[in-house]
Amino acid sequence: MNTQKLPHIVILGAGFGGLTAAKKLRHAPVQITLIDRQNYHLFQPLLYQVAIAGLIPAQVAYPVRTIFRGQKNLTFQMGEVNEVDFESRYIKMNGSVIAYDYLILAAGGQTNFFGIESVKQNAFFIKDIQSAIATRNHLLSQFERASREADPDKRRAILTFVIIGGGPTGVEIAGALAELISHVMGKEYPELDVREARVLLLEAGNALIASYPDGLRKATLRLLQKKNVEVMFNAKLTGYNGRKVSLADGSQIETNTLIWTAGVKVAELVETLGVERAGSGRVRIDPALQLPGHPGVYVIGDAAYLEDENGRPLPMLSTVAIQQGNSAADNIRRAVRGQAQKPFQYKDPGLLATIGRNAAVARIGGLSFSGFIAWLIWVALHIYRIIGFRNRLLVLINWAWDYFFYDNQVRLITRE
Ligand SMILES: Cc1cc2nc3c(=O)[nH]c(=O)nc-3n(C[C@H](O)[C@H](O)[C@H](O)COP(=O)(O)OP(=O)(O)OC[C@H]3O[C@@H](n4cnc5c(N)ncnc54)[C@H](O)[C@@H]3O)c2cc1C
Repeated sequence: MNTQKLPHIVILGAGFGGLTAAKKLRHAPVQITLIDRQNYHLFQPLLYQVAIAGLIPAQVAYPVRTIFRGQKNLTFQMGEVNEVDFESRYIKMNGSVIAYDYLILAAGGQTNFFGIESVKQNAFFIKDIQSAIATRNHLLSQFERASREADPDKRRAILTFVIIGGGPTGVEIAGALAELISHVMGKEYPELDVREARVLLLEAGNALIASYPDGLRKATLRLLQKKNVEVMFNAKLTGYNGRKVSLADGSQIETNTLIWTAGVKVAELVETLGVERAGSGRVRIDPALQLPGHPGVYVIGDAAYLEDENGRPLPMLSTVAIQQGNSAADNIRRAVRGQAQKPFQYKDPGLLATIGRNAAVARIGGLSFSGFIAWLIWVALHIYRIIGFRNRLLVLINWAWDYFFYDNQVRLITRE
């Protein structure tokens, strides 16, 4: 095959959007270069399980080269892209220049601390494997510390875990952490009274998972409270010095642990592109997912800002990134054939969030579920969506073990 004449597609990012686009172009008459700073695709929706000692990183990540082993029209390059020149149509990766005919920018997002420097310095967050492992090490270490702490006040601060942000991630972590404490740590630390431990979920607004219907929000609150999570509404954080959380009403909470889940913004690279951006710093795109004024440059997933027919921004979710990956790939095929571009239309598959064992909330096909049925849907869907048969099997075995033996198996403190 003479690849010289084939249009060159550069896909920046092997996350949900980039990976989907690359797969969709498998049989297209194009040459693809897929670039990522990591050599693996990360299944971020299950990262919190790494943080709460439920799964190991290899079960939520998969090597990109393995995924594309059989795809002849694709080359993978691992590296950091630090410049995009839309006029001359090239990107720069680790100093080398890579020219493109079409570009799919799928660089994702990063944690947004909203400029609160003390939180950035002292809080834990869950965005990549490193941050999830750091959180796990810290959480587990607190029980070791508490077990040798004789001063009850200090012990209470060590065993107080504060999670900021009542969105799906905050809810998932709070529920899972409360269970880790009550189901596992109680057995593991007979010298500790784990009833001293507190899990606090702080939300600046007056509702959990605000984008969900009212019934599911209430169900979420009920399910969390049943697991002894203390939920505080209208609790606006102003700072955290590593020992005390300060709130806007002047109150303080003594804690060694703050987990920040309250914000996402675009990836660093996107902030340097000099293009028009909107909410969370996302790049404004046209309905066909292209950068205005730059046909052939598609921005998708968390990096992109597009509104639905009601004027609401599409959420920063894997479902959006996946559908946009498919759509961008289809539009590139059309462009290569000289056909008109097709606008993107998001098909909302519903909402789903877990709150721990036997507990989840779901809104699918106009129907709301909560409790065990929603949890079963969550388990089945996540097993189905993880990449690789081996990972699916291992996660299933892990979860079955945890379920029947009330255990979280990955309780290794690898570095504090
Ligand atoms: C803890 C957590 C839980 C979540 N839970 C859910 C959930 O339950 N359901 C859901 O739908 N969504 C969830 N999300 C959101 C979902 O993960 C994102 O919406 C989705 O990953 C966006 O896909 P993307 O392709 O735009 O970006 P990503 O999947 O983030 O991929 C971006 C890729 O670009 C690479 N990259 C970035 N910059 C560069 C650069 N300069 N050079 C080279 N490579 C670069 C990154 O390494 C990364 O691999 C969750 C996210 C997090 C963090």
